[in-house]
Amino acid sequence: MTTLLADRLSVAATAASRLVDPFGRMITYVRLSVTDRCNFRCVYCMAEKMTFLPHAEVLRLEELDRLCSIFVGLGVKKIRLTGGEPLVRRGVMALFQSLSRRLRSGELGELTLTTNGSQLARYADELAACGVKRVNVSLDTLDAGAFAAISRRGDLTSVLAGVDAADRVGIKVKINAVAQKGLTEDCAAPLIRWAHGRGYDVTFIEVMPLGDVVGEWSQRFLPVADLRASLSKQLTLLPTPYRSGGPARYWQVEQTGGRVGFITPMTHSFCESCNRVRVTCSGRMYLCLGHEAAVDLGQVLRASGDDAEVAAAIRAAVARKPKGHDFGARAAGAPPGAARPISLTGG
Ligand code: SAM
Ligand code: SF4
Repeated sequence: MTTLLADRLSVAATAASRLVDPFGRMITYVRLSVTDRCNFRCVYCMAEKMTFLPHAEVLRLEELDRLCSIFVGLGVKKIRLTGGEPLVRRGVMALFQSLSRRLRSGELGELTLTTNGSQLARYADELAACGVKRVNVSLDTLDAGAFAAISRRGDLTSVLAGVDAADRVGIKVKINAVAQKGLTEDCAAPLIRWAHGRGYDVTFIEVMPLGDVVGEWSQRFLPVADLRASLSKQLTLLPTPYRSGGPARYWQVEQTGGRVGFITPMTHSFCESCNRVRVTCSGRMYLCLGHEAAVDLGQVLRASGDDAEVAAAIRAAVARKPKGHDFGARAAGAPPGAARPISLTGG
């Protein structure tokens, strides 16, 4: 076989192994929840008393690593570790270290995480050494009392120390905040000024009705259009075409020069450009945040040592990826479509 022909066949084989859903969207991004446990109990995310998955159901770190490798073999370029709180999983750095090898080989383009920041001070150095260049830190307010009330168990000081540590090691921080009625109208502007003063983007997301907190959802729901209106009294928001590759729409703040993003899962669909799937720590792959459609990859993984079987299960599931979520329908009073807590799939 000539070299040219071999190269062409290899390109064709690579293209054929990619994950493309029925709507032509290429799946290149996996969000992997490495634990459903957390040291916080944020009011919009978890109940005060949570029942977590039995340990036996949670995939071992080596199993999660194997699963990630299979995804990478299928063309996944970005892996975000999330949770629960990813940094409370014992030994989680071993997974980061193993995945960092794929970063170095160029098979993986980005390894990142979403965290509540409370453990970042402890792990920032190791994360940087593993090639983590960016981190999303969830922080709704700089008011220590309000922070304690929202997170139920959190301490703002530890989160701010975590953010400092990320800065120190050169990991770029983005702040994620959940827009909440009666809170964010007042907290947003100080949060934006603080974040922009440190060079961070801030993104606000509308609270979604997931898991145990569905019942309270309507009391907390603050449409980002309303948030923008209240922000406009204090800051000048100028529309910008900037896109980060995700669902947020960005505005430039005239007074700070920084960017603020808004994600509106409830009032607008961000599905047309969806390139992701979500995998729980037990290996359940959800095709869409707003749908229950899932496949138990953990079971396949544990039943077979053959990666090709797992890859086939992933492929078959992606072939059933829904076109989009139906949160908007739910907002109009339809019953919830996704009863699982967000801590299972990590947002
Ligand atoms: N513990 C980590 C953290 O808080 O960043 C990672 C997991 S957490 C489930 C991921 C993201 O989901 C966080 O930014 C959190 O604020 C967000 N989140 C949790 N519950 C939500 C809800 N009901 N609606 C919208 N976002 C939510
Ligand atoms: Fe924990 Fe994150 Fe959920 Fe808060 S949002 S309870 S920090 S998983």
